[in-house]
Amino acid sequence: MKCTDADSIFREVQRQIEKELIVAVQVHGGDEYIFFETPEDLATDKDGPIVIADDGYSNKEQYWKVSKVAVVNTTELEIYGFPMEGEEYERQIGYLEARQLQLIIEAIPATEKVKNVTSKANRMKKLYHTNFSVAVSWCNNDIVLCNKLPEIDPSIWENFEPLVNLEYEPEYDEDGEEIKPKCEECGTELQQDGPNWICPNCGECEDPVEIYQWYITDCSQGDVRYLSEAFGLIFTYSDLLDCYVLCVTHYGTAWDHVDWVTTNPNAERKLGEKK
Ligand SMILES: [Zn+2]
Repeated sequence: MKCTDADSIFREVQRQIEKELIVAVQVHGGDEYIFFETPEDLATDKDGPIVIADDGYSNKEQYWKVSKVAVVNTTELEIYGFPMEGEEYERQIGYLEARQLQLIIEAIPATEKVKNVTSKANRMKKLYHTNFSVAVSWCNNDIVLCNKLPEIDPSIWENFEPLVNLEYEPEYDEDGEEIKPKCEECGTELQQDGPNWICPNCGECEDPVEIYQWYITDCSQGDVRYLSEAFGLIFTYSDLLDCYVLCVTHYGTAWDHVDWVTTNPNAERKLGEKK
């Protein structure tokens, strides 16, 4: 007889809870949430949720005290802990079922701004790994390095394109207005200042980006919109040259070995792969 496809429902629940755990970590302002760090804390009842998972070797289930949750490469979770019996060193815990992940989320405290991770997790976009070389070449544009540009054309500081949050869909209030990110320090709505979000009240800026390289491009307005929305590339405009400028926030690594993410599943690539 046919029946409900339980596997696919379980997979969906699993993915939802994984997303919610990623959000729970990220709302604390980083890619790691640490419950405790040393094995001595195991004895002292320091808070760390206790979960059941297999030991990664023998498929034997055991209890773990979770020490750390890390979000790796934007989309993947790594969970570390100490086995409640036996070894006294931190190990990565293997597969954790949704119910166990939920115990971890419940042990992470709410923040001023986020008490419930569900709605934010539902706005999380599905991202695919690619590399920076593929992102830049996706619309077949020509680019030319011109690091003198900031000296010769101050207009580029005024003309930044709207920053796109690749990880989350925008959130709207009851009037349909987009809700802008708010300052962690004072709660004021942040404003885009060049390639960053800055608090107009206290000047706070989370993880300011620095631009190391400026590339003159033959991008059309449509190219720029697509490349920022699908790949999170940063563009500004040169009034002097009458063209869009690609702003590059990293240096030193060949572009096809710079890990990048995209919302476009067709652009999924490994490091080193070409478009
Ligand atoms: Zn502020």
